[in-house]
Order: sequence, then C-alpha cells, then structure tokens
Amino acid sequence: MNDDTCYSAMQSRDARFDGAFFVGVTSTGVYCRPICKVRIPKFENCRFFTHAAVAEGLGFRACLRCRPSLAPTDAIMRWTNEDASKTLAQQALQLIDRSSGELSVVQVATKMGISDRHLRRIFAAEWGLAPQAYSKTRLACEPHGAWPVKPLLLQLPLHLPYDHAHMLKFFATRAIEGVEHIDEKSRLWRTIRLSQGRKVHKGWICADFGAMGSTLPITIGSSLVPVLQQLVPLLRATFDLDAQPKAIDALLLADFPNTAGQRVPGCFDGFELTVRAILGQQITVQAARTLALRLVNRFGEPLKNSEAPVHRLFPSAAGLARASTNELGELGVNRARQTAILGLALAVQNGLDLSNRTRTSTELQVTRNGLLAIKGIGEWTAAYVAMRALRDPDSFPAGDVALQNALGTRQASITKSAKDAEVQSAKWQPWRSYAVLRAWQRLEKPNSKEST
Ligand SMILES: [Zn+2]
Repeated sequence: MNDDTCYSAMQSRDARFDGAFFVGVTSTGVYCRPICKVRIPKFENCRFFTHAAVAEGLGFRACLRCRPSLAPTDAIMRWTNEDASKTLAQQALQLIDRSSGELSVVQVATKMGISDRHLRRIFAAEWGLAPQAYSKTRLACEPHGAWPVKPLLLQLPLHLPYDHAHMLKFFATRAIEGVEHIDEKSRLWRTIRLSQGRKVHKGWICADFGAMGSTLPITIGSSLVPVLQQLVPLLRATFDLDAQPKAIDALLLADFPNTAGQRVPGCFDGFELTVRAILGQQITVQAARTLALRLVNRFGEPLKNSEAPVHRLFPSAAGLARASTNELGELGVNRARQTAILGLALAVQNGLDLSNRTRTSTELQVTRNGLLAIKGIGEWTAAYVAMRALRDPDSFPAGDVALQNALGTRQASITKSAKDAEVQSAKWQPWRSYAVLRAWQRLEKPNSKEST
C-alpha cells in the first residue's frame, strides 16, 4: 500500500485495514493503528509503516488510545476491535444466554460492573435490539418457555449514505426461487443455515430496505434467535453495513459519478457463493441462476414450517460432497464445473474457511491460494469470492470481460486487456472491490464471465 492508499484506508477507519499498517504523526510524535478514533491528521504530517517496530525505532510513541501493540499481526491473533464496547456487548449477550434470559438487565449490568443505561446503549449498537427484548425472547426459547417464540426485529446501525436500491437490485437479479425472495415492499427474504457446535440452526431473515434509515430493520425467524451472536456479524457483512462511505466515495465518485453510498454485496454463505460463482463461469447471470435453482431443488433441503415466502436451503458442502458427477451432469452442469464443485465441497469439509470474518492480508492470500488449488477455480473466481465472501475491500478481477468493457480496456489480447485494467485500477486502491461494482453498473448488467 502506498501513502495515498494508506491515507484513504485510515480516513475510513475500516477494521479490515487494522494490522496492515501503522501511521506516525510528525506533529504529535505519536503513532496509531488505522482504526484509531483520534482526529484524522493532515496528510503531510503522516508517515506510514508496515511494522510498529519501525515507528518505534524512529522515535514515535505508541498511542494510548488504540494501543498499537495490540494490533493484529500475522503472528498474533486478531484483536477484534479497539473499542471495548464491542467486547462488553458480546459478554452481555453471553451472560443472558447462559442464564437463559432469567437475569434481569440490571443484574447483567451489575455483574459486568457497568450501568444499565450504558449496557442498553452498547447492546443496541452491537446487536440491534434492547437487552430486555433479547432476554425475553431467549427465555421463551427455553424448553419450558412459552412457544411459539415470535420473530425478532433487529435495527442494525450503518453509516449513511447507503444506496439500498443498488444492493437490492444486485440480489434481485440473482435470486434463487425458494431461497431468496424480493417483494414489492423492497424487502429481501432469505433462508439461512448456521452451525453452532454440532447443532445446525435453520431459519429465515427479512431485511426491510424499504424502511431503512440510519438503521436497517431486519426480522429474524425464531429458530435463529439462539445464534444471534453469529447471525448479526453475518448480516452486517452481507449488506456491508460496516463500510464507511465517505472515504470510499471521496476516492471513487470522480470516476463513477452518481454512485454515492454504493456497497459491495456480500453473501450469506461463502461455500454457496463460490458454487454460484463456478456455475456462473462463462455464462450469463440468468443462465447461472437457472443452474443454481436446479441444484437447490435437487440437493437443497426444505425449511420446514416457514412462515416466510422462502422455504428451501441452499445445499451444504456435506450435501454436495455426496453428489455424483452423473447427478450434477443431469442438471446441465458441465464436466469442468462438476469437478470444481466437488473439489470445493471436499476442500471446505477439510477446513477451507470461506467465512466473512475479518482477515489480515496474509490470511486473505492463504484462502485465495486454497481456492486456486482447486481444479476449475481460476483467478477470476478467486477474486470474485475474495470480494463478496471474504470481504476484501481491494479485490480486482482484472480478467473479467464485463469489467474490461466497462473500463474500456477490452482488446484482442486477453493478457493486455487484463493488464491495462489492472494499471487503470491502481488509483482506486484500497477500494477496488467498490470500484468493480460501480464499473459493472456502467454496463447496466452487473454480470461477469471467467475469461481465463
Ligand atoms: Zn491511536
């Protein structure tokens, strides 16, 4: 990352850059992590370092607020957030879970040594609902509780502006009937499967984009209440709610006018997204959608007693690993993609992690290499998966034909087309994933094909 790139990343305070670099401020003599909440220093006063030790060596003192020694590095486990509120909100949720909702909010706050007012504030900011409401639903979920448990409404905070029409259209264009549904009220319904230990929780969510303001209202089916701790980060990643649009737009609006607040659509499951990317190699979005629907109808499982307009789950890695090439062939999946899908299912079962957790740049590379090691997965698919499933803010599928058309770099030589696109993209670092979405929109058909 060069100095301009680092400065843009720092302005966003996006946690995805935490650990990637440090910033020393010459006017104060202090050095910080890019996520530090201090006032953003002037560009000319910033010095950027890959290692904290270099800043120390030059005489910069560590910031007492963000504590650079706690920054995630490739050797140390990732420190989730410099903000203690997040950790506290997690502990509060766990306390309520462990007491099965029997502890009152005041009792939880007392146990944690904070005021109940503070608890209510940090709980709502992190989980999107009041602790009392969660506690009540949690109590109802117990075997001795009063069934049926009602669906739970979350209000997930986000940073404005947010182009919800773009997000909704992206999902609508690719929706698989039964798994995803977008209704006339701009609500996105979706089935979800989450594992906690050995237990698998299946259910549905409904994101109400029509009613979104500074929060996105999302209703979750009662069967997913016990996995709220996993579900909320998944929803935040899927709808890119943690992005800081100001820094991103500042860099991209000149080249992509009228795209303020556009986000990178994530995914509800990394395995599913990768399977769908494989199915979409070299064919249209519509054709890929048809193949995905056949796959869901043949190998997906039903979501029983769903009160939502979605009722089928996308097949799991375990489910697809048992499929034979013949069975996949009958659905119209060609030989190369059969091999890729079965290879992927096996790799995921053997531990390839395609989850949306925040990764260091080295971890991103390891996962990408894991994908590229699977026969039938090339650079395009790996870059697309990095962008949507692994949440890499700076992924750039240079070989994408639609992208090259949008950027005007398409020419006879495949290698040259990709190289020119890559060169042009340098000025959009570290937000190239966002630039890709905006470039696709120029074509009004955000489709892409594997060109390799
Ligand atoms: Zn700091």
